Amino acid sequence: MTGDAPALYGLIGHPVEHSRSPLIHRLFAEQTGQHMNYVLIDAVPGRFRAEIEDFRARKGQGLNVTLPFKGDAFRFCARSTQRARQARAVNTIAWKDGEAFGDNTDGAGLVRDLEGNLGLSLRGSRILLIGAGGAARGAVGAIIDADPAELIIANRTPDRAASLAEAFSSGGLVRADTFENLHGGFDLIINATSASLSGQVPAVPAAIISPRSFCYDMMYGKNPTAFLSWASAHGAGGCADGVGMLVEQAAESFLLWRNLRPDTGPVLREVRRRLS
Ligand code: NDP
Repeated sequence: MTGDAPALYGLIGHPVEHSRSPLIHRLFAEQTGQHMNYVLIDAVPGRFRAEIEDFRARKGQGLNVTLPFKGDAFRFCARSTQRARQARAVNTIAWKDGEAFGDNTDGAGLVRDLEGNLGLSLRGSRILLIGAGGAARGAVGAIIDADPAELIIANRTPDRAASLAEAFSSGGLVRADTFENLHGGFDLIINATSASLSGQVPAVPAAIISPRSFCYDMMYGKNPTAFLSWASAHGAGGCADGVGMLVEQAAESFLLWRNLRPDTGPVLREVRRRLS
């Protein structure tokens, strides 16, 4: 360790006080011997750019971005990765040669959790994605890259699912459907809505769940989410919440910032231990 000031990173959002990101990045930094600090920036709506200027004045090198600013961050960045452009949302900013460079690591984090940590193979599978907000938009490209047989997007407001499917329509692989129209036969069902935040379950038919289906909720918490409790009660073959996605998307950000990929296994175990 040198006497230099630690490299400064952080998370900007509103609210941010319950975020697990400082813990995750501290564990990554310890594991890889990086001299860095990770701070929380609670920016009231309208203060996004002002807070970023302040962060840069403090020599900040990179930021994670969460609700409600992922769209603002996309518009803010001078350049961005293809996956960020597809999602029209940025959850990671790195300053390179003074210029803000945007990425979206949510989809990669989701697929790494599903395939790497949970041992699922998305290739050739039938997948239902519930939701059409920022998290769903960030996930679609990475799911398509994993080569499923079919991806159906369904959302409470059907028009949003239709325009998301249209934006990604690659050879008929992706299509939108309404909640009422959904039938069974899914290998994987991903809840990318924020319904679990208020203890609700999207109004999809219970018949979509079968022992064949693995159910995933991007939300996470101490106890099973409302969606996962509901899916288990209807006979889902397996269930997982989004804490693994959280750790994996953070690892992708860390890779962009520090050019090092941390070992996520021990960090995921520690975050889970603290959640419970
Ligand atoms: P948005 O606000 O952008 O989108 C919310 C989505 O949820 C919309 O599709 C909305 O439908 C739907 N929705 C909200 N309430 C209900 C309800 N009661 N029934 C059915 N649908 C509902 O949020 P995000 O996409 O950014 O986030 C979604 C979830 O993903 C959050 O819980 C968030 O915590 C989680 N997340 C987890 C991450 C992780 O690393 N684990 C990373 C990013 C997000 P409509 O269009 O009809 O309003």
